[in-house]
Amino acid sequence: MSSEEHFQKVREQIDSVSPSFCLAKWLQVTLHLHNGHNHSCHHPETHKTPLSELSGNPSALHNTLFKKEIRNRMLHGIYPEECNYCWNIEKLGKQYVSDRVMKSSEDWALPQLQTVVETAVSANINPSYVEVSFSSNCNFKCSYCSGNFSSKWREENEKFGPFPERRWEAQRETIAEENNPYVKAFWDWWPDLKKDLKHFRITGGEPLLSPSTFRVLEMIQAEPLPNLHFAVNSNLGTPKVLIEKFIGLASEIVENKKVADFKLYTSIEAWNEKAEYIRNGLDFELFWSNARLILQKIPNLQIIFMATFNSLSVTSFQRLLEETLKLRAEFQHQDRIIPICVDIAYLRDPLFLNIQVLSEEFLPQMEGIVQFMEDNKFDYEKRRHGFHQFELIKAKRTLEWMKSPLPADELRNRRYRFYHYFAEHDRRRSTDFLKTFPEMEKFWNLCKNS
Ligand code: SF4
Repeated sequence: MSSEEHFQKVREQIDSVSPSFCLAKWLQVTLHLHNGHNHSCHHPETHKTPLSELSGNPSALHNTLFKKEIRNRMLHGIYPEECNYCWNIEKLGKQYVSDRVMKSSEDWALPQLQTVVETAVSANINPSYVEVSFSSNCNFKCSYCSGNFSSKWREENEKFGPFPERRWEAQRETIAEENNPYVKAFWDWWPDLKKDLKHFRITGGEPLLSPSTFRVLEMIQAEPLPNLHFAVNSNLGTPKVLIEKFIGLASEIVENKKVADFKLYTSIEAWNEKAEYIRNGLDFELFWSNARLILQKIPNLQIIFMATFNSLSVTSFQRLLEETLKLRAEFQHQDRIIPICVDIAYLRDPLFLNIQVLSEEFLPQMEGIVQFMEDNKFDYEKRRHGFHQFELIKAKRTLEWMKSPLPADELRNRRYRFYHYFAEHDRRRSTDFLKTFPEMEKFWNLCKNS
């Protein structure tokens, strides 16, 4: 069965419960313990877990009353607004596969369809896919991130005030890791949670700066979870001593098969100095050499390049793909068919930074990126390091999203904000937009005059 046919079949299965039903709402959670927020999958806005709900029930970190109400709507065919990421894709037509379908089709979700449907909507359910952030300590301040996820961003906001174009964004209180009641609730929940856990991923902030990350690694080292698909995020820009500590623990875990598999997720969506501009704090050379070092030292670990595809990605993304293919070829072996996978997600917020803001002159380049992936598709005989269908699907839907038109006033407003955001960015961070993106000068001037 082709992946298209498979997704079509899954869509029919979940639509038979309701056209707005998504298993991720029950079985997946991202826990932002550093501020007590959570969301099912990473697309909807986060919401806070009231501390009162946690009393005697640490699973309320995931099973909040708010979420139970959203689940109830999904079961009754009501489309929750918080899931617009998926409804935007589904509106493009049945041939475009939304994350509602992709996530529901995963091994951690689909086998539990019946259990979920039979569970009372008021009941608690353990997720099988958990992402957790223990702390928002981070040494980067990426353009699309915020003070809610990065301590560097917060420091900058305290010094200069929030960016005027992002003043409306809620600034949440951050709780220090060492005396955080949400972190405590997580460890209270852990003995029960780990029994149902299939996928567990540590995110941040920068996870390698958090002691809890190393606590998890040491726990797995001592008490293996051989059925667990385990992953850690890292910006690969932390001090060498932490990278080495991570490599030491991770290689021991992988070599002794203490988890089912181990992945490292890292964000990158452009090449070299353009990537450094988007992800302020990134040292691209160090990033690339750390990625190589990890692939070299841990032969069965896979790295996932998470590309938060935004308006500054288009002009150098193909170069990133070309170099990624070379790395794939170098580090591929029989037991590691895909040493690096490219996972493209289109950036939605801030709105003025997403690719819908771009002018038509960038469309051929975006089409070229998709064509490049098509031309370099995985082929068992000829091109074993080529791109797989699941990577291509995400690139194609990003292209379609880019093409979907915006009302003229909205477009002008977003371009106006794009210019003012990066003019201020250059002032605060001593960067130079036009020096980094000379090929975008015409567009820059268009935004300036919007
Ligand atoms: S955003 Fe999509 S994938 Fe995420 S919970 Fe909502 S419907 Fe599911």
